[in-house]
Amino acid sequence: GDGARVPALIIGSGYGGSVAALRLAQAGVDVHMIEMGKSWDTPGSDGKIFANTRTPDDRSFWLRTRTKQPLSNFLGFPIDKNVSRHTGILDAEEFSGITVYQGRGVGGGSLVNGGMAVTPNRERFGAILPSVDADEMYDVYYPRANAGLGVNEIDRAWFDTTDCYQYARVGRKHAERSGFDFVYVPNVYDFNYMKQEAAGNVPRSALAAEILYGNNHGKKSLQQTYLAQAAATGRVTISPLHRVTSVTPAPSGGYTVTIEQLNTGGGVTATKTVTAGKVFFAAGSVGTSKLLVKLKATGALPGLNNEVGKGWGDNGNVMCGRANHMWDATGSLQSSIPTVGIDNWEEGGAFAEVAPLPTGIETYASFYLSITNTPHRAQFSYNAGTGGVDLNWQTSWKQTSIDMAKSIFDKINRKEGTIYRTDLFGFYKIWGDHLTYHPLGGAVLGKATDNHGRLHGHPGLYVIDGSLIPGNTSVNPFVTITALAERNIDKIIDTDL
Ligand code: FAD
Repeated sequence: GDGARVPALIIGSGYGGSVAALRLAQAGVDVHMIEMGKSWDTPGSDGKIFANTRTPDDRSFWLRTRTKQPLSNFLGFPIDKNVSRHTGILDAEEFSGITVYQGRGVGGGSLVNGGMAVTPNRERFGAILPSVDADEMYDVYYPRANAGLGVNEIDRAWFDTTDCYQYARVGRKHAERSGFDFVYVPNVYDFNYMKQEAAGNVPRSALAAEILYGNNHGKKSLQQTYLAQAAATGRVTISPLHRVTSVTPAPSGGYTVTIEQLNTGGGVTATKTVTAGKVFFAAGSVGTSKLLVKLKATGALPGLNNEVGKGWGDNGNVMCGRANHMWDATGSLQSSIPTVGIDNWEEGGAFAEVAPLPTGIETYASFYLSITNTPHRAQFSYNAGTGGVDLNWQTSWKQTSIDMAKSIFDKINRKEGTIYRTDLFGFYKIWGDHLTYHPLGGAVLGKATDNHGRLHGHPGLYVIDGSLIPGNTSVNPFVTITALAERNIDKIIDTDL
């Protein structure tokens, strides 16, 4: 409630925030989590909590009056539509030069993402975060994160025969014929549940095209894993539809946190303050960076250093489709959960996931989301004119990522005698280069913070989310975000409580 004092306050309920909540609570600390999105535990008028990908509605987007679907076109035609402004689940946040997709609600990105749970190869991790003891990460924290998240692997024999992964088998065949390393990718979607879907025994989710706007079944989001365990301790309170706007040192010690309560139309219905002994920034790379940059610039947290806002990257995300021959049908039934990838990181700087196009009809298309080794990093800065925070990303920087992705798909196209699809992102546009699903950085470990996420200049303030990672993880990021949070909270509980 207003004016309360809490030992630990966590801003955001995604991966970093959920790890911090569980481990602090297990250590006996009472935790208050503040989450600007909805709780996503109540069915809508159709009896379902989450909207379907094929029929986005008010639940689908964060405070927009028109959808902004990542795949904006089909057969060249725009498919976006009007919706009413609502605190929906997927935020397509627009900065100049890039749209950053993020989850909104209790569970953060785990609500909307594809569940691909990838532990990067150890050498690549070492290059990204050289100050982190890799032995400890691979012996203790990656295994702990994988267990906590409920990561599982697809049954290969089932993969080889099920209709819903025909598209992925076509992807495998093409990758292998061009000599690329083909990898099976673990996931937090329960593959046993998916088998039951295919058999017609349970309600369909992955096999009903659910993804992006939430999965009604099968996926173990943070609500089912870390946050369920955290709730069971009895020490964690979550306030959904509450947004943190300020954190500043309190006269009596600790920090005064200002919080706006929102209605589902996005309006502010109340403003509250809470005093917190320790504050954990877990608002995601963009959310944490925006808060810190603004709080430094406006003098609320004057001790933050000049690294705040720097080192932001898009994980090199770029999307494309390929048009297959008629004999390489990809199937009308496609599991929305990707489970395979093409690894050309060492040679060409790209790791591509074979993604579904779950339209429900045969498209003869192969679709890919590539993660690339782009060197480009942007910076957030406070805009005193608008009171907002800008990002200086350059659209042209994506060309580096496109070139890296082409190291895979130009070769496959030559080998197969095929071409790129030009109808998925606009009229005659091959590359989905306007967006990222994987924002990373902005409060980089060892720069804006010490080697365990303690913010420089203000004891008792911590960063514990994707903003610690300097712009790239070489693979999909959430397992690394979770493992790094496990490592940092272990240290913080040992030494700071
Ligand atoms: P988040 O999970 O983003 O959580 C931050 C939370 O803080 C959010 O719930 C937000 O609403 C809240 N918040 C923000 N600001 C405030 C504020 N001021 N006050 C209160 N609350 C606030 N990664 C993978 O590894 N595999 C995948 O398959 C994958 N697929 C993806 C697909 C999509 C469509 C998207 C969008 C992302 C995908 N990702 C995937 C990325 C992954 O989801 C993110 O990297 C991850 O969620 C980031 O974790 P985090 O803890 O840093 O922050």
